[in-house]
Amino acid sequence: MKDRGLACDRCGCRHLEVVRTVRVFGKIKRRRRCRHCGRIVTTLESPARGSDSKKLP
Ligand SMILES: [Zn+2]
Repeated sequence: MKDRGLACDRCGCRHLEVVRTVRVFGKIKRRRRCRHCGRIVTTLESPARGSDSKKLP
């Protein structure tokens, strides 16, 4: 938890471009590719809070 930013685990470069975004089970799966070495890094993220959990009266 010391590093909040996403970086390539091979070369440490932070220049990751998103090549694909998929919604799975209410989450967002992103496939990123390192521009430096071509390493593919897949991340699973939660969508922005409040966007799909509105409480209607
Ligand atoms: Zn890399």
